[in-house]
Amino acid sequence: MEKILEVKDLSISFNTYAGKINAVRKVNFYLNKGETLVMVGESGCGKTVMAKSIIKLLPELITEIGQESEIIFDKKNILDMSEKELEKLRGLEISMIFQDPMTFLNPTMTIGEQIAESLIIHNGKIKKQQALEETIKILRMVNIPNPERRIKQYPHEFSGGMRQRTMIAMALLCRPKILIADEPTTALDVTIQADIMELINELQSKLKTSILLITHDLGVAFEVADRIQVMYAGEIIETGTKEEIFLNPQHPYTWALLQSIPKPDAQNKSTLYSLDGTPPDLLEPPTGCPFAARCEYCMKVCKRLKPQFTKISDTQEVACWLKHPLAPEVEISEVLRM
Ligand code: SF4
Repeated sequence: MEKILEVKDLSISFNTYAGKINAVRKVNFYLNKGETLVMVGESGCGKTVMAKSIIKLLPELITEIGQESEIIFDKKNILDMSEKELEKLRGLEISMIFQDPMTFLNPTMTIGEQIAESLIIHNGKIKKQQALEETIKILRMVNIPNPERRIKQYPHEFSGGMRQRTMIAMALLCRPKILIADEPTTALDVTIQADIMELINELQSKLKTSILLITHDLGVAFEVADRIQVMYAGEIIETGTKEEIFLNPQHPYTWALLQSIPKPDAQNKSTLYSLDGTPPDLLEPPTGCPFAARCEYCMKVCKRLKPQFTKISDTQEVACWLKHPLAPEVEISEVLRM
């Protein structure tokens, strides 16, 4: 498969009053053409920060990106792009949809005006009437009923699901090559969540867009993913195909995530699994495995040295000393001799 996006050694930190928060540390991954890659992990693990950095949407004043970091799209490093190049990239090549559409829709403009305006910004030659006609077509494509009437309405007259559909329509206006969807269903009712994911899936197969989906919901990941990456405390700790992650997970944190999925079984009265402890303080990230303090399999080496990735298959790899060829007897001196 051909790679469309490659993230190399991405590190992101924020300078705050409390000190430097190392939110993302040496993250490496790629997105293939036409695939859906899902990034899962608990809130605060760095998923959104990492996603926003792909189109440089982070607050420049306080953000520091590692000198060695690269985000390669179309043979160019996005991190080196000028503001002018980024304007062309955003929306035209890579689009993003967010958790709460109300924050991104202008409450003082009708839905039709704002979609048409985006069209005109991206395509200077299109006239207002033509842009409105295009808008109707796009709203129909995302299953908004009666779009001729709906274009005259304001965002507050739309339901949560319809607002998210509008955001998806706006994100796909210019047929971008990549769609980044950051928790697109979190603010919606469960029934609407399923509709939105189905819509994203449907549009992907129609438009052949590559999707990077950020979620903490493993159910959503299972529905749509080709591949899954598990993130913990600013690092990717396991990656694999959907089947590998769900049927043959290798990292203790992935095991914990999977155990915490509620089982729809009325006979099963056991309480939901929860992981003890909290993620590490990213003001002073641990030198060894970031999961060490919460891991029941933790060995001496785990606290001293960061686990390197071990290949499980062509598509699956895991950062855990348990998978080291010398585990469980692995000793620091042996690792240092590697
Ligand atoms: Fe647990 Fe050690 Fe593996 Fe980290 S490296 S997940 S602490 S066994």
